[in-house]
Amino acid sequence: MIYIKNYIKGALTEPISKKYFDNYKPSTGEVYAQIPDSDENDVELAYNAASEAFESWSNLPKEKRSSYLLKIALLIENKLPQLALAESIDNGKPLKLASTVDIPRAAANFHFYGTGILHYASHAHNMENTAINYTLRQAVGVAGCISPWNLPLYLFTWKIAPALAAGCTVVAKPSEITPMTAFLLSEICIEAGLPKGVLNIVHGYGNKVGNAIVSHKNIPLVSFTGGTVTGKHIASIAAPMFKKLSLELGGKNPNIIFADCNYNKMLTTTVHSSFSNQGQICLCGSRIFIERKIYEKFKTDFIEKTKALIVGDPLSEKTKVGAVVSAQHKAKILSYIELAKQEGGKILCGGNEVVLTGENKNGYYIAPTIIEGLDYNCRTNQEEIFGPVVTITPFDTEEEALKMANSTMYGLASVVWTENLTRAHTLANKIHAGIVWINCWLLRDLRTPFGGVKASGVGREGGFEALDFFTEPKNVCIKL
Ligand code: NAD
Repeated sequence: MIYIKNYIKGALTEPISKKYFDNYKPSTGEVYAQIPDSDENDVELAYNAASEAFESWSNLPKEKRSSYLLKIALLIENKLPQLALAESIDNGKPLKLASTVDIPRAAANFHFYGTGILHYASHAHNMENTAINYTLRQAVGVAGCISPWNLPLYLFTWKIAPALAAGCTVVAKPSEITPMTAFLLSEICIEAGLPKGVLNIVHGYGNKVGNAIVSHKNIPLVSFTGGTVTGKHIASIAAPMFKKLSLELGGKNPNIIFADCNYNKMLTTTVHSSFSNQGQICLCGSRIFIERKIYEKFKTDFIEKTKALIVGDPLSEKTKVGAVVSAQHKAKILSYIELAKQEGGKILCGGNEVVLTGENKNGYYIAPTIIEGLDYNCRTNQEEIFGPVVTITPFDTEEEALKMANSTMYGLASVVWTENLTRAHTLANKIHAGIVWINCWLLRDLRTPFGGVKASGVGREGGFEALDFFTEPKNVCIKL
């Protein structure tokens, strides 16, 4: 049994309560590790360590901060096989995905911000013959970073790396459902010689540890990625305390497919954008709108390709769809499939739990599911399911597709498939989303703004936007 530890003031520590709770392996349903059941007292220790470290870390030349981040990036790269295996076991995602996406991206996050900070500059505003203004960008202080379970190390480091690069010190909380790679990251930080207290990782439940971070009176900034309901709760606590807030929340992303698209490219990518990571990526397209002219052909081909996806042990090379993250999440996804049926949906493939054999017999597996015949306004098409479940709906005109695409409370990502350039630009302009992919999906340039509109979030991560978030601008005006 592995006992996960907190990382506070440079050391791996037990929770003050000495209490732990179970960490499950989604592929088998077994308990394989113990997670610290930390509380506000552990957060206080972490805050004190971060606060003590802030003065020297924020004043360190950026080249020096950069070198620590680059060291961490290199160590993540060197330990890719161990980290990918740990991520796959902890989350249930195929090992191949963890090896090619999650862990390389975690290294890239540190590398990107380790170098990005060297190019980050502020502005000067000259008032001819009167005064000159310059903007100082100063690290905000101790940053609170809270992340979800779907891309554990990838999203955890997407917050931590820019915070550290900007000169903040950090109290971070990974999801209690997938804490393992955050624990391994603390070992990496120790190996990299990161000064003590600069990064502190406190494990435990959201309503204890997360809440203590969000409501801590001296933590002036919270970067959160997770569900919209949690985000709303966090905002209700943090807003009256005038904290800086970055909220990356849920989505119900539309894929709009026109008959003039590059069909084969679209089909292959749509299978990925529907079912990668068991559909548990906030950017997955879960509502697929297809121009009626190609609807029947698309339906036949999409079902065929989806049925060919092998649901299996995440560690097997052949597996395309691994386990969903938890028993509770499996039940939630299955309940949405039942709801879809009640709402008049026809299950075209999947729609059921998959029971594997051998040691995987108690794992959490769901067959990739395609549903048709639902109104765009029904709950199945409006609420985030966050599993391997998509709906397909035909449309006749661009206006109709747009109306359906924009009909949810969410606005995170979207995909448009067309070879018509004018139509692509027009839709990109009109879709309510923070991200529009034209003829691709999940193609990421880390310099671009990342985030959603409406109930999908507040603020943007990525590029210099994140460095802006973790710093406070101060204007200095000098009269000439
Ligand atoms: P969640 O909101 O349940 O939990 C996210 C994190 O918040 C966890 O670390 C959790 O412990 C913590 N938390 C829970 N309650 C808290 C509280 N009261 N105070 C402070 N922290 C608290 O989300 P999840 O189930 O882990 O993740 C899935 C959700 O995340 C989906 O809705 C998905 O769309 C969203 N997501 C969004 C993005 C994005 O970039 N917009 C990326 C990935 C996932």
